Amino acid sequence: MKNAELCYTFKKEIADSSKTEYKREDFNYNFETDEFVCPQGKPLKFRCLQRFESGIYREYRSEPKTCRNCPNREKCLAPSQNSRRIKINIFQNIVDKHHSLDGSLEYNEALRKRQIWCEGTFANQKSQHNLKQLFRRGLKAATDHCLLSACAINLKRLIKGTVAA
Ligand code: SF4
Repeated sequence: MKNAELCYTFKKEIADSSKTEYKREDFNYNFETDEFVCPQGKPLKFRCLQRFESGIYREYRSEPKTCRNCPNREKCLAPSQNSRRIKINIFQNIVDKHHSLDGSLEYNEALRKRQIWCEGTFANQKSQHNLKQLFRRGLKAATDHCLLSACAINLKRLIKGTVAA
């Protein structure tokens, strides 16, 4: 496989729950200034980190005084809001990188093989080995947990194969 450093996963579509006409994709991210730019060309600056069950997010907000006089305010803000907020996962750039080949032949082939070889094992590990959620922090601890689970699965297969022979 050419892009061995990329992992191929199904894309999880995140529903945009905003009831306003302007959606998340109407706001462009500027890497150099680390801010979003709204359809009126105004910046939404980074304000804070927020922790949710689904991860840690960076929150960007527009200036209320800028939005107060915006001609497109109704398209962008709910009546109760005085500024627009956008949240993105702190790992979003890495997620985007891993989805850069979505739809390509290589991606489709990798997903097809993944369904045949891995999905059943992943499901088993999630339900039987507590891998739905990791309870220890850090890459090393996560790797230990996954390797222990893989070791247990291989031992079970070995025992089954020995008994069947
Ligand atoms: S309401 Fe604020 S964030 Fe929305 S388009 Fe107008 S200036 Fe931009």
